[in-house]
Amino acid sequence: MAQTDFSRLCIHTMTTKPLDICQAADLYAKEGVPAITVWRQALEGKSIPAVKQHLAKAGLRVVSLCRGGFFPAQDGAKRQAAIDDNKKAVDEAAALGAPIIVLVCGAVPGMPLVEARKQIADGIRAVLPYAKSAGVKLSIEPLHPMYAGDRSAVNTMKQANDLCQEIGGPDIGVAVDVYHLWWDPELQGEIARCGKNGWLHAFHICDWRSPTIDLLNDRGLMGEGCIDIPRIRGWVEAAGFHGFNEVEIFSDRLWALDQKDYVKMIKDAYLKHG
Ligand code: ZN
Repeated sequence: MAQTDFSRLCIHTMTTKPLDICQAADLYAKEGVPAITVWRQALEGKSIPAVKQHLAKAGLRVVSLCRGGFFPAQDGAKRQAAIDDNKKAVDEAAALGAPIIVLVCGAVPGMPLVEARKQIADGIRAVLPYAKSAGVKLSIEPLHPMYAGDRSAVNTMKQANDLCQEIGGPDIGVAVDVYHLWWDPELQGEIARCGKNGWLHAFHICDWRSPTIDLLNDRGLMGEGCIDIPRIRGWVEAAGFHGFNEVEIFSDRLWALDQKDYVKMIKDAYLKHG
């Protein structure tokens, strides 16, 4: 089923990267987009209380803060620095009123994945009590296996669910991103398991272009690629998730457009293919 209105549409600040966060907020609000996910880069050099006030004035709901994570490192000092940075992200999320932080868990070239995964679990355990006391949840975002070497050693929904089970929810959960997970034959069952356990925190959408010309910055607008988004959204909704559909697109091609036109394109694609 296609979308019929914009009541559950959220846009990530990174999707309209050329815009300053306040410009983005004003544009989303003008276009009737009710919610925003804030990337930490968009907050650099800004007063978070002032941004919070700006977003509130624009009538935007803050869905999440992106991103924490990057826990594995070759030495203890770097692992501690990652834990400290994640606690700083918790402070930022609390100050902004963001209920969750999305975790890109991390990986280190040359480090065995088993070791990276152990360090990820340890890192999350070290941050979770701090997040819990601030009223902020942590959401593991499994990344496509093409990033297993350097961005995340957590690559499937099953791995993310297993981590939640090992660590213990519901303050830890999962952000489901169709770009990373659409190929997985176990996806439907693992989404159901995630929802059943109360771990399903967030849902990110965009499309997989074929051919993809850049592994990071060539995501497609919904409908430009091969992901059946309504089908996966159906699984997520059947699992009990009724939060926002967050449009998260990194694209040099789309960042080069007039961002006012681009937000209109996002809305159109959302109704047809979201
Ligand atoms: Zn995502």
